[in-house]
Amino acid sequence: MISFENSKLVEEQYRYAESVCREMIRPNARHYDDYENEHELPWDFIRFIWDTGRKKMESLMPGVDVPEEPFMLQVHINEMISWGDVGYFMCLPWPALGGNAIQNTGTKEQKARLMKRFHGDKPTWTCMALTESHCGSDSSAIRTRAVRDGDSWVLNGEKLFVTSAKKAMVQSEGVMVVWATTDLAAGRAGIRPFLVEANTPGVTITKLEKKLGLRASDTAVVILENCRIPLDNMLGGQAGKGFKGAMNTFDSARPAAASSGLGIARATVDFIKEQLTLNGIKIRYGVPRNLLSALERDIIDMETQLRAAWLLTIKASWLVDQNKPNTLESSMCKAKAGEVVNRITQKGVELMGSLGYSHRFLIEKWMRDGKIIDVFEGTGQINRLIIARRILGYSSKELK
Ligand SMILES: Cc1cc2nc3c(=O)[nH]c(=O)nc-3n(C[C@H](O)[C@H](O)[C@H](O)COP(=O)(O)OP(=O)(O)OC[C@H]3O[C@@H](n4cnc5c(N)ncnc54)[C@H](O)[C@@H]3O)c2cc1C
Repeated sequence: MISFENSKLVEEQYRYAESVCREMIRPNARHYDDYENEHELPWDFIRFIWDTGRKKMESLMPGVDVPEEPFMLQVHINEMISWGDVGYFMCLPWPALGGNAIQNTGTKEQKARLMKRFHGDKPTWTCMALTESHCGSDSSAIRTRAVRDGDSWVLNGEKLFVTSAKKAMVQSEGVMVVWATTDLAAGRAGIRPFLVEANTPGVTITKLEKKLGLRASDTAVVILENCRIPLDNMLGGQAGKGFKGAMNTFDSARPAAASSGLGIARATVDFIKEQLTLNGIKIRYGVPRNLLSALERDIIDMETQLRAAWLLTIKASWLVDQNKPNTLESSMCKAKAGEVVNRITQKGVELMGSLGYSHRFLIEKWMRDGKIIDVFEGTGQINRLIIARRILGYSSKELK
């Protein structure tokens, strides 16, 4: 049965994550956002999480003591760490998007191989490379080639905007999931996921993007040049899990992104309410709307939108844990969260006046950081397209 109450485990770990945010994350968030410090990593935090924190936060410890609803726990931790700072959240050494892809497309042996990397001494990351220069939203147009040569696959192509590629492939012994085509003429039917391990010859990171927000997170250009990998690194075994696997990856990646965005949105609402309290202003909940001040209406609208987006996210996450289809719900929560985090952070900056625009507070950073939720893991428009297809019963060919 679906319940809107957090389990004891979720509540305990959520509160633990909050203490980590207050003590380690918030005080340093500005440093890693400064333009000149872009791509510098919060190593103290990363080491702490690897050595201590993740043993307490079970959702960060893949494969160990799996709780009853692991995904529900994960979205709560995502929300809380992103409330602390989304740049730090992006640095968490855990399976993340690449891990999602492996969970959704890999064989038992491939999943075990990935999980093993997360039980060593050194912080480890994964990443997933789908986007190319000519295709972001239309991922079925991938041109990176995978050609079979004896007992290897040989990959050639260029991938853009790969989150954590440097952390996974250079700064740790991680893995990258690369989506490539074995048959260009076959369109989406030719697309397969491949596992490329750190230190594989033929992988080069040529550039780290400078960005509007998420500055602690590396977003890389990756070149694959005659990159030779073993045959059994095609995820899902010889038949491989095709394009559908990429789409299934998003069924859990989208609620994960939504929860992170809602952490940023909640940080904004909490901050504004703290400022109002400091200035002796109370929100008169329960008073008829026409009697409220414009400011009170704004705050109540922010809270309502936040709650609505969170409930959609909880529903999509619950379906993940129940192993039930959730493509519609995951797109709904992602589209809503993307819109809500943008609305709330912009409104927050507006309500703070000039102080909102200045570097004195983190609120301007949250506005920049929050924009990403409507861009990656499918833009707002693409998620709305998916929702429309699902509700109206159209295929991707019929409704583009
Ligand atoms: C910080 C960051 C991290 C990222 N991390 C990763 C990663 O780890 N791995 C990865 O593979 N990619 C990653 N990406 C890439 C991201 O997923 C793509 O940028 C995104 O899918 C959009 O693709 P695009 O930039 O090519 O835009 P386009 O697809 O060219 O879209 C441009 C605009 O047109 C709209 N649009 C496109 N098609 C339609 C349509 N059919 N109907 C209506 N509107 C449409 C879009 O919504 C958008 O507003 C990342 C990007 C950023 C900025």
